[in-house]
This record gives sequence, C-alpha cells and structure tokens, in this order.
Amino acid sequence: MGTVSDIKLIDEKGLRIDGRSPEELRPIKIETDVLNRADGSALIEWGGNKIIAAVYGPREAYPKHNQDINKAVVKARYNMEAYSVDERKRPGPDRRSMEISKVISEALESAIMVEQFPRAQIDIFIEVMQADAGTRIAGLTAAAVAVASAGIPMRDLVTGCTAGKVDGHIVLDLCKEEDNFGQADLPIAVLPKSGKVVLMQMDGDMSVEEFDQATGMVMNAIKRINQIQRDALKNKFETSTGEVGE
Ligand code: UDP
Repeated sequence: MGTVSDIKLIDEKGLRIDGRSPEELRPIKIETDVLNRADGSALIEWGGNKIIAAVYGPREAYPKHNQDINKAVVKARYNMEAYSVDERKRPGPDRRSMEISKVISEALESAIMVEQFPRAQIDIFIEVMQADAGTRIAGLTAAAVAVASAGIPMRDLVTGCTAGKVDGHIVLDLCKEEDNFGQADLPIAVLPKSGKVVLMQMDGDMSVEEFDQATGMVMNAIKRINQIQRDALKNKFETSTGEVGE
C-alpha cells in the first residue's frame, strides 16, 4: 500500500481511475490447452495481467522422501518474470514468490482429490508474463482451470477475486494504481460450490463493516468468475469431443 494521498483514485461520480464502477470487474478471458507438453494448461488475461498456468502430473514424487503415503503432494510455483512489471524485477525466487507459491499450493490442495494419488506429486507452474495487480488471484484462478483441464479429479474449482479500500471506498478487483495507492488490499479465494474460503490475505486496514462489505462483493464476483472458468473448460471439451464435458 502506498501512502501518496494526493492521487485521486475515485472521481466526483464515484468512478475509479480506470473508469470502472466500485463493483465492476476488469475484463477476464481464460483459454485452456495453450501448451502442448503440459498435462493441462490455461492462459488468463485479467485486466492487464497475462499469466500462464501449466500442470504436470500426477506422477511419482521424486525424491522419494517427498512422498506422502496418504496423498499427492501439490506443488505450485508462482514466478513473476523480470519483464512483467514496470521496474524490472530481479529474476528468480524471492520471499514474496515463495509465500505466494505456498498459499496457492494449499488452496489448490483443498480442491484436488489428493487422496486418490498416494506417493504422487502434482506440479503447477504459474508464470506471470505481465503484471497489473491481483496476480496471485489471477494465477490461482487460472491454475484451477489448468488442473481441471489435465483431467485431475477435483471436488470443486478454486475461484478468487480481490477487494480493497481506495479513497475511503470499498471496491472490487483493484488495478495497479489502486493497489499501490489505496488503503487496503484483500485477496480471497473460495471453493465456489461449498463457499469454503481457501485463501485470504490482507494488506492495509479497514473496519469490520468495510471488511464485511468487501467480502460480500468478492463472493458476488466469485459467481461470475467461476462461470468464466467453467465456460473455458466447456469450450475445451466441446472442441475436443464435440460434446459438453460437464
Ligand atoms: N509488483 C511489481 N514488482 C514486484 C512485485 C509486484 O511491480 O516485485 C506489482 C505487480 O503489478 C503486482 C502488484 O505490484 O501485480 C501487486 O503486488 P502484490 O504483492 O500485492 O501481489 P498481487 O496483487 O499481484 O497478487
């Protein structure tokens, strides 16, 4: 969260710096099977974010001491490319990407039927090629589609969205300026069928009432985003078999 207070993020009409209303999402597009050698893959374009998720497995976990005799190990690796941001990012893993990889792995593990694959490993690579705020959520949302498109059994998809506080207003799906100069950023991901929350992090501060408003907005948006995920998967199964794979 930035502290620059002279940047006006909400205008007199209540519109945001990119012209959106408070509860308006940025455009979201998801395409599956964008990589030939992955078992499943998805490309998400969410506002200015462009992110690829690639899934390999389940396959025998190696080295063997990484194996769990009861379930598959889900290992997501979130990577932000050096060229994905305005100010070149130092390549390679850092604390931020390690933390994001961990929370994304855990969120996906709660959706995947890991107990069906003892001693196995499922690798998920999330490559942020262009970043514009909300990349952990966009990456996770794409990764869930990639896992489903790999045919890995899942209890549910994982769907995420961010809400935040900007110029004292609660708004949905922060863009880069809002993320940088707003007062709070709250990424949330859920299993949409059960409504179970599998990821929630917060940066900044807001009141309990504002928190309720923000989570309410996210839960509404989750329905719309989940539909986009399902449509992407439907397109895949329609294209490959001529039937809807529901
Ligand atoms: N960002 C950046 N350089 C970095 C990390 C982040 O420019 O090293 C930008 C990028 O646009 C990112 C945004 O800051 O999307 C917000 O980052 P945050 O850590 O809040 O994660 P995100 O919102 O992407 O999940």
